[in-house]
Amino acid sequence: MTTHGLPTVGFIGLGSMGTGMTRNLQQAGYPLVVNDLRPESAKELIDGGAIWATTAAEVAAKSDLVITMLPTPRHVADVVSGPGGVLEGIADGGTWIDMSTSVPEVANAVRGSTSSRGLHILDAPVSGMSVGAANGKLQIFVGGDAADVGRLRPVFEAMGDPERILHVGAHGAGYAVKLMINQLWFSHLVATAEVMAVGVSAGVDLGVLRDALVASPANSNFVEHDVLSILENGDYDEGFAMALACKDLGLSVDLARSVGISVELSAIVEQVFRRARNIHGDRAGEMTPFRLYEDLVGTPLRLVPVEEKVVAR
Ligand code: NAD
Repeated sequence: MTTHGLPTVGFIGLGSMGTGMTRNLQQAGYPLVVNDLRPESAKELIDGGAIWATTAAEVAAKSDLVITMLPTPRHVADVVSGPGGVLEGIADGGTWIDMSTSVPEVANAVRGSTSSRGLHILDAPVSGMSVGAANGKLQIFVGGDAADVGRLRPVFEAMGDPERILHVGAHGAGYAVKLMINQLWFSHLVATAEVMAVGVSAGVDLGVLRDALVASPANSNFVEHDVLSILENGDYDEGFAMALACKDLGLSVDLARSVGISVELSAIVEQVFRRARNIHGDRAGEMTPFRLYEDLVGTPLRLVPVEEKVVAR
């Protein structure tokens, strides 16, 4: 199963993220066995030498390690523990890495039900959006045993930025770090939309307001960089859908509940996102909640290019 000394990687979930990740694994020389509900998503990979498997069990049986990159914990549970799933094909002592944004329950249940099989299970969710997946610059947060993380580092490096592949703790820590990053970023989004809507409605020029925020102690990466995709281009980032953003926020609140921490702010942010999803749909971009506040102002919040301001004068 091993070509040129590299292990065969089984990869399940060839969506916005999995497409770029598998392309980079293939370019790094890893033989691939792949599966997705949409066979057409594997065409380029198969042209490049990847093997198509009709079930997750077959992926696992033909690979040295299996990676899942699926939408939700339910999808992960089905693909791993369901009929025809990874557990039916994986060899004793085999390796499963879940790179989906998820919660520890699924992997914990698998660990519990397979304790005699010596499986190596890691959670390794990512940041960096589909662009980062495509250009191999993902940030990867790995939870699991240090020896496994060391052994699998070259595989992670084929998909991510070597400087930003972090072993963040034991099983489940990767999921937790990823969910907290998303929670804080989504909170920044709602907070920024609110203050910009109020400031502009109070008569302040949007550009002046943003410059003042950037120069102030209230600055954030969101105000300085990420919000510009809306303010300059009207781009609400369709590379990451509202359905997945709401899934992440739900998981974040679930995680808080499971560890007994009250999270009033997170719960409100989740509700704002759910409202935007109700109005604009599952496929709308993750920054769509900004539009709720633009609707309150009565106009999109857009920076006027400097040259237009000069002409206007
Ligand atoms: P996606 O919906 O684009 O892709 C998921 C893929 O899984 C699809 O191709 C789908 O056909 C496949 N799939 C679903 N059920 C399956 C099954 N039973 N068997 C085989 N394949 C199945 O999702 P995505 O954007 O690639 O996200 C994947 C994960 O990565 C999610 O957990 C998401 O939260 C996380 N994530 C996404 C981004 C992003 O910017 N898109 C960034 C970071 C993390």
